[in-house]
Amino acid sequence: MEGYTAVLQKIEEEKAKLVEMAHAIHGNPEVGGQEIFASDLITGYLEEKGFKVWRGVGGLKTAFMASYGDEGFHVGFCSEYDALPEIGHGCGHNLIGIAGVAAGVALASSLGNLPGIVSIIGTPNEEDEGGKVDLVRAGVFDDVDAAMMFHPGCSTCLHVESLACRDYRFIFHGRSVHASTEPWEGRNALDAVIQTFNGINALRQYLKDDVRVHGIVSEGGLAPNVVPDRAAADFIIRSRDSHYLGEVVEKVIACARGAAIATGTTLEVEESGYPYDAMVSNRVMADLFGESLKESGYKIDSPYEEGRGSIDMGNVSRVTPSIHPVVAITDQWVPGHTHEFTALCDTEEAYDVMLTVGKAMALTGYKILKDKNLQKKILEEFSASIKKDIG
Ligand SMILES: [Zn+2]
Ligand SMILES: [Zn+2]
Repeated sequence: MEGYTAVLQKIEEEKAKLVEMAHAIHGNPEVGGQEIFASDLITGYLEEKGFKVWRGVGGLKTAFMASYGDEGFHVGFCSEYDALPEIGHGCGHNLIGIAGVAAGVALASSLGNLPGIVSIIGTPNEEDEGGKVDLVRAGVFDDVDAAMMFHPGCSTCLHVESLACRDYRFIFHGRSVHASTEPWEGRNALDAVIQTFNGINALRQYLKDDVRVHGIVSEGGLAPNVVPDRAAADFIIRSRDSHYLGEVVEKVIACARGAAIATGTTLEVEESGYPYDAMVSNRVMADLFGESLKESGYKIDSPYEEGRGSIDMGNVSRVTPSIHPVVAITDQWVPGHTHEFTALCDTEEAYDVMLTVGKAMALTGYKILKDKNLQKKILEEFSASIKKDIG
């Protein structure tokens, strides 16, 4: 129990500083890729605590890797700190960021003679582009053996799943003419967009239940008396199953192609460079986290809920055994990405949950580093689940 006590004590010792940092990040919201205040604040603190810090990892200027220890099983805590435009910390990334820091500092201080590496990985720009997609591509997670983070919410869920997701823009090029004097000479790009929506709406009936296709008209012409020569629509396509998602994407693109043929326009297809993978939650780690959350004094109110959103931790979960539990910071229903949720993420209750989750993640890490058998089980379950998903 020495390590346990050390973990819990360290977070109590650092409590005032940790809450001060989370509150300061909340009060200085920075959007994705611009989180200079937050990353400077966190990396400065971690250096003071004896961590070796590499800034700008993966080519992202506000990303970092802060590590403690030289050899052994490598436990990583992901720290997010980006905010939403206008809304500020309406997703609670100030709490995510500092819970990861708390867990890392507490686990490092309790290591004693235990072999192991403890890292805090600063993962910026989650809301806009999915910074972890860049970090995974750059190999930042290649040496990490187990990765953890949490997300604040209105109910608690240990085994968080998510949908794989791809973003497309369909741009149609037509021919502009006066819409009344010689419309027969025109090729209406907006009609192609409308036909694309109609085609996709007809397709929905034949798609599996977990699929989501949602879009907007992003360009629809300039004036009602001019046949639009350019129009565009943005779509997000999601499914629990990455392979099936590929099939759905082909069908959706076929709707756009058909619309181009029908309207005599040409189609340009752009895919955003940030596809999200479905989250594969490591069950061994998630169960350990659940047990540790109880030991840290938290009452779990809902054990399982299927995720219907998409998270960039999904991409991490394909290269490293990972968990992304959601932990309630309120017993009221307050939708995320709202000013109400922003206010909630700067309360004493929210900071208490942040510290409790920090303790639970650190305890989870401690149990893993202490037990080689557990390490083996985590890696075995990871290989099996990835194989199942790929097969
Ligand atoms: Zn969010
Ligand atoms: Zn978020």
